[in-house]
Amino acid sequence: MNYYDIVVVGAGASGVMAAISVKLHHPEKKVLLLDRQDKILSKVRASGNGRCNLSNKNLFPSNFYSIQSSEKQKNKFVQTSINQFNFQDTKDFFSDLGLFLRIDEEGRAYPYAEQAELVIDFLSAYLDQLKVKVLLNSDLDEIKMIEENPIKTDQDKRTNFKLHLQKRLPKSQKNKNLKSKFDQTNIVCEKLILACGSSAAKKLGGSHAGYELLHQLNVKITDLRPALVPLILAKEEKLKTLKGQRFKGQAILYKNQKLIFKTAGEFLFTEKGLSGIAAMEIARYIEKNSKYHITIDFIPDLNEQELKEFILRQSEKIKEKDFSSLAKGFVRKNIAEYIAENTNSYQELIENLKALKFEVIGTLSAEKAQIMAGGVILEQIDFPSFSLKKNPNIYICGELLDIDGKTGGFNLQWAWTSGYLAGQLKSAY
Ligand SMILES: Cc1cc2nc3c(=O)[nH]c(=O)nc-3n(C[C@H](O)[C@H](O)[C@H](O)COP(=O)(O)OP(=O)(O)OC[C@H]3O[C@@H](n4cnc5c(N)ncnc54)[C@H](O)[C@@H]3O)c2cc1C
Repeated sequence: MNYYDIVVVGAGASGVMAAISVKLHHPEKKVLLLDRQDKILSKVRASGNGRCNLSNKNLFPSNFYSIQSSEKQKNKFVQTSINQFNFQDTKDFFSDLGLFLRIDEEGRAYPYAEQAELVIDFLSAYLDQLKVKVLLNSDLDEIKMIEENPIKTDQDKRTNFKLHLQKRLPKSQKNKNLKSKFDQTNIVCEKLILACGSSAAKKLGGSHAGYELLHQLNVKITDLRPALVPLILAKEEKLKTLKGQRFKGQAILYKNQKLIFKTAGEFLFTEKGLSGIAAMEIARYIEKNSKYHITIDFIPDLNEQELKEFILRQSEKIKEKDFSSLAKGFVRKNIAEYIAENTNSYQELIENLKALKFEVIGTLSAEKAQIMAGGVILEQIDFPSFSLKKNPNIYICGELLDIDGKTGGFNLQWAWTSGYLAGQLKSAY
């Protein structure tokens, strides 16, 4: 049976970094990196619209969230981790590979040529150089723990896990009669690093496979919610005239009339609701069975009094009440017309420009989401080693954990940080 010292499951950002880190810290170990897809780093390829926003200079715990952990626990978990592998470490890591980073005015980091493929090329070459064995088209579907009488293959090899893999066969080898697309195989290993990612973005490899493996290991997982995904607003019909309209502004989310989140930046009305970076930040708060609404402030630069003075001054110059013309002083035509249709007085016009209300009835599904909020409950993890407290031979990193980041490079940075620390195998040696 094939033996490896360490098997890393999932060749996304966190798994690739974990495999590299194992080799950097334990060069003598035999490492296998496996993935169910036919290529590595699929989400990295699509990240930042193909430009790969791979980190952010403003790396603080406040840019990360957790579904289950308290703010204090989450901050401690993130801070302890980034103390050991931070933005500068990420920059130096890529720079050592030969990939220089470009940092924009918001602190977002990209490969200098802003091409995600380059990140993949540099990381692939490094995996090769470090002699990490990469096995693609291989789906790990069962982990068996060998707790008693570990098989000692020789003095140095302890076998703790037997892994069952479904291997997708290349077309040429498929047995047409059996209609089988798969071959099965077993491997054994001493330590496991689970870097299976989330169920977000199925087309880019997102799946429940990681959560299913964790269930087998009796690891507890929080509720999972699509995050960084557009919102669905009520009254779809009325939204049609707004479709395609972009604006910069602020939004406040209310749950059962109580303010729970504020966001600012770019928004885009879509056929079903609201997209754009700022709107997508709201999605992680939307749970089933609660009532939500948002108010949109189209003019955060003016307070209500300043806006009132402006509107009243302008209104004196026009003969009839023309709410649409007044609104056009601040928002695009279609938005101005939508607002005018829902306005009966100057006071209402001011309220609609400062706090236009929409009911939020949900979010688009995980398939359209960039990430999932939620994952492995953090108190089961020994940090910053990232091993499972109940089994120090199993490490978990990346999006599988109950940590999600804001847009701007924080999710990939979490993958680099957690992958690097997991790969140190600190609980084990
Ligand atoms: C469209 C899009 C754009 C994004 N843009 C950005 C951005 O610009 N900046 C940013 O910071 N973040 C971005 N993100 C989020 C970021 O890409 C992810 O948070 C990050 O890639 C997660 O890394 P991961 O290693 O945890 O998981 P993944 O990258 O999802 O990797 C997990 C891997 O594990 C494999 N796998 C799972 N289960 C098994 C199994 N049982 N057996 C074998 N293999 C398995 C999967 O095939 C997959 O390749 C974006 C995401 C998307 C979808």
